[in-house]
Amino acid sequence: MLNALSIDLEDGWAIFSRNRLGKIISLTEAVVRNTHQIMQILDAHNTKATFFILGEVAEKYPNLIKDIAANAHEVAAHGYSHRQLDLIGPDEFRKDICQSKKLLEDIISAEVYGYRAPVFSITKSSEWAFDILAEEGYKYDSSIIPNRYKNYGWQEFEKNICRVELAGGKSIIEVPMTVLSLPILNRSFVTGGGFMRYLPYTMMKFAMQKIQKQRPAIVYLHPYEIDMSPMPEQVSLEHLDSKKRRKIERFLKISGHFKKTMQSKLEKLLTDFEFTTIIDVINMRTLKAFCIDTENGR
Ligand SMILES: [Zn+2]
Repeated sequence: MLNALSIDLEDGWAIFSRNRLGKIISLTEAVVRNTHQIMQILDAHNTKATFFILGEVAEKYPNLIKDIAANAHEVAAHGYSHRQLDLIGPDEFRKDICQSKKLLEDIISAEVYGYRAPVFSITKSSEWAFDILAEEGYKYDSSIIPNRYKNYGWQEFEKNICRVELAGGKSIIEVPMTVLSLPILNRSFVTGGGFMRYLPYTMMKFAMQKIQKQRPAIVYLHPYEIDMSPMPEQVSLEHLDSKKRRKIERFLKISGHFKKTMQSKLEKLLTDFEFTTIIDVINMRTLKAFCIDTENGR
């Protein structure tokens, strides 16, 4: 079974500073370094992946995006500045996805087909996003977690890759994230992100083996999850009161500990299972209805 590997390409430090520290900073070089490191690991395992790229990263580091495309990975969009759909609404969403698609296409001189919402924020209440994505030329979306979590998830949504029929005869392919019920966890396991970072690799392997009997697994991770370097200078905790500062320092210490495990987990995953891009997985489905014509671009 060929699975899909996806990398949500964002500057973890810049988003952390904006969201957790209340301070906007310029993007850090860490995103470039970490992405190159991931590409080296992929190369060593002869694996291609889909990179869902944030517009602000593409704008500041266009050569990084060119490198991703030159290495035959799939370039896809992750919006411009990582704003969740429920916070921006339909009009801003349209602007955001148009801007990020055009930005990426201008850099790689090829069409971009796929989109992933920041924080998997397409849910039942933002179903309108499908129509806008299809209208703006996206061929597939991969933003749905078909389960219920505190801040995201769409429990009733189909678990397999499917075509979503829309008004006016349009449609879009949805590639939902892989969710597996594991009674030992008392909650559902998602193949990637925090589940991969905080739990032992054996859990990931077990989930992958189980899911592969039914369908391809869609795995995701972020470049910052393998980042072992110290906190960049731009990120400052100086302005925080001592209580909040201690809390953040504790969080950074714990997350740093788990980041140390990610590179070897990724390498084991690439050794134990086979992966390719999302567009390849879609086009490998035997149902012709799934096919996206990629003749004119990547
Ligand atoms: Zn993201």
